[in-house]
Amino acid sequence: VREIIGSKFPNIKGLEFANFKNQLDYLQNKYSIIKAEDLIEYAINKKTSLPKNPCYLTFDDGYKDHIEYVLPELKKRKIQGSFFPASKPIINHDLLNTNAIQFILASCENLEKLIKELNTKCIEYGVSEDEINKLWLSIDDRDRFDNRSVTYVKRMLQRELPEEIRSKVTDMLFEKYVGVSQKDFSIDLYLSKEEVSQLVSEGMYVGSHSHSHYWMNEESLESQKKEIELSLVFLDKIGAPTKDWIMCYPNGAYNDDTLSILRKKKCVVGLTCNVGHGLLKRHKLLEL
Ligand SMILES: [Zn+2]
Repeated sequence: VREIIGSKFPNIKGLEFANFKNQLDYLQNKYSIIKAEDLIEYAINKKTSLPKNPCYLTFDDGYKDHIEYVLPELKKRKIQGSFFPASKPIINHDLLNTNAIQFILASCENLEKLIKELNTKCIEYGVSEDEINKLWLSIDDRDRFDNRSVTYVKRMLQRELPEEIRSKVTDMLFEKYVGVSQKDFSIDLYLSKEEVSQLVSEGMYVGSHSHSHYWMNEESLESQKKEIELSLVFLDKIGAPTKDWIMCYPNGAYNDDTLSILRKKKCVVGLTCNVGHGLLKRHKLLEL
């Protein structure tokens, strides 16, 4: 959520502030906006119920926009939002891989050229042309949001390449296309620790979105555990609850290991990216 037209990144995928207010009007009209605490109470106390047509508002990744635009608007309307920042970029002032890619794509005017550069780099780092071709052909171009080229860049830099190559290539492309230090960019893009604390003190809910924003289903049990523990340390520091808390899975991805860790850590609600209405089932609260 931000003012996008006329900004430094007019091509960024985001929600114009005016449209955000329209969305809130619509949701407030049709649904009862509930608080995180209502959902938590519902999860731990089987006797409680939620209002009819409950709607729960969430904001992921801890962007600066959330304190500049979202917080004042929610306060004005006297409703609560739930915020799920990943802790690593806030603590280390680095960029989430997904955001680095997003801004590379928003700054790039010739996607074909970008893909050529990406592939050349991959080959330099020892990826074979065969693998590259296979990947290109494996992409499903009926993606909900992106065309094949965009999906290819995202898939390569988010998941397909080995981590080390991925981050080197991403850094190179970020420097070339965005041309700002990632540290300065991170400080501008994400909330500071103090701002996350402010969300809590202003009555908003802050929950976990892991530490590094990895796809949990692709991480080992140990790595997932570390990711969740580090984010809980962060939540504790900024004054958010770490007992009966809410997890929002990065990219909506999780597996049985994630669920077992969350049960042990007293997480009561887990948010996925499932699309649709009426997903609220008591026995599936870790997979909403
Ligand atoms: Zn996220």
